[in-house]
Formats: sequence, C-alpha cells, structure tokens
Amino acid sequence: MKKLMAANWKMYKTAEEARTTAEELVRLVGDVPADREVLVIPPFTALSAVAGAFSHGGAFYLGAQNFYPAEEGAFTGEISPRMLKDACCTYALAGHSERRHVLGEDDAFVGSKVEFGLAQGLRMILCVGEKIEERRAGQVESVLRRQLEKGLAGVARDISTEDIVIAYEPVWAIGTGEVAGPEEIVHAHAFVRKILVEIFGARGNEIRIQYGGSVKPANCAEILALDNVDGVLVGGASLQADSFSRIVKA
Ligand code: 13P
Repeated sequence: MKKLMAANWKMYKTAEEARTTAEELVRLVGDVPADREVLVIPPFTALSAVAGAFSHGGAFYLGAQNFYPAEEGAFTGEISPRMLKDACCTYALAGHSERRHVLGEDDAFVGSKVEFGLAQGLRMILCVGEKIEERRAGQVESVLRRQLEKGLAGVARDISTEDIVIAYEPVWAIGTGEVAGPEEIVHAHAFVRKILVEIFGARGNEIRIQYGGSVKPANCAEILALDNVDGVLVGGASLQADSFSRIVKA
C-alpha cells in the first residue's frame, strides 16, 4: 500500500504562484520514493498550471477540493467531476471539515459526492473528524461512525480499494498547530479501520487512512510510523515547496 502524501492548498495561490511552487516541489522531491504517491490539491484556477508542472509523469497526482455531484446543468458556481478529469485530476476531496462546518454540507450531501465522484472515475478522499466539543463529550467514535457510514453509503462493496481513501482530520487540530497525540491518532485510525472492515469485509484493510491536522516536517515521520497511518493530508505546511518536500520524504 503506497502512502498518500497530499497537499491541500485550500484558497491559497494564484495560478502563477501555484506553478512556481509545483515546479520547485518536483525539483526538490526528485524521484518520489517507491512506496509513496504525491498529491497536490490546488484551487480550481491553478489546476492547469500545476498539471503543466507535473506533466513529466512520475508519482505526482493532481486533485480537486470539491465538486457538485451532477454531470452538468444549471448549478451556478459549481464544477463537475468530468470537468475535473478534463483538468487532469485523479483525486477529489469530499467532506473536508471546512466544507462541513463553514459551508454547511451535511453527511448525506457528502455521501452523494463520494458515490457520484467514484462513478465518474475519480478517486475519492472522504474526510472525517470530530470537533473539540464532540471529543470532550466522548463522541469521537459515534461521530466517526456516522460520518463513515453515511459518507460511504452509496459505495459498492466490491469497489477497487485504491479508489477510496479516508482522511482522519480532527477539527481541533486543523490549522491550530495542535497536532493530535500518537495515542489519539492510533485510537481513531484503528476505529476507522474497524468500520471499514465492517463495511467492506477484509478488503477494508486495503483502504488507505490518512491523518491530517497540523502535520509539519518535524512531526511527519513520527505520525507516519503509527499503526494504520497510510499517508498525510497537509494544509499550511504544504504551501511552501521546501516544507512539503521534506514531508513527502519524511
Ligand atoms: P493544516 O495542516 O493547516 O492543519 O490543515 C489540515 C487540513 O485541513 C488538510 O486538509
């Protein structure tokens, strides 16, 4: 199972800034380690620029932060999986905490995106994670169970396991500098694994589970060494090529 090292650039970088960073990243990373894949998820307006920087091939993939689950139509401001594939995207996110909690997306809508994106040939990264008040109330497992069961409700049980990735991103660790501790990560990832096996049988063991939330070059190796951590999803520390290249090789 290749570790998926992903950069979520959120609402940062013009096309030119993204192109410069992506070119520098390719140069600094050099040959991607054989057991890793690198994924960059820029804003839509920078997809083409990053695709150009990655056009030499190799294990650099492009992803989208969001889409609307329909083929086409009167959906002002939205973008379709087909347009994203046309823009060279292999992966897409669904259920990122900022879309759940800032944009108000609910579990059913997130699930419809996962189902539709897969049907359109995108690899889907389903993001899950509890808020701090949910953790304090002892609800980590119930929140993860709900987000996973609803997020994966429309996914065929015989799905190719490399097409689906879960990203565990505790909301309180995103952009705060407060990384989850090793025990918290190991517990949450083991619980996600248990649910995946409940849903997909033994093949649930082949689905990658990323950790996200204040990952940096200094803590990445330790996090990647934990049980059931099959990659990282990085926000702030992925914006500079130097810092993300050190994460990719950690
Ligand atoms: P930070 O790495 O900035 O905490 O963001 C994590 C994240 O939300 C990645 O999707």
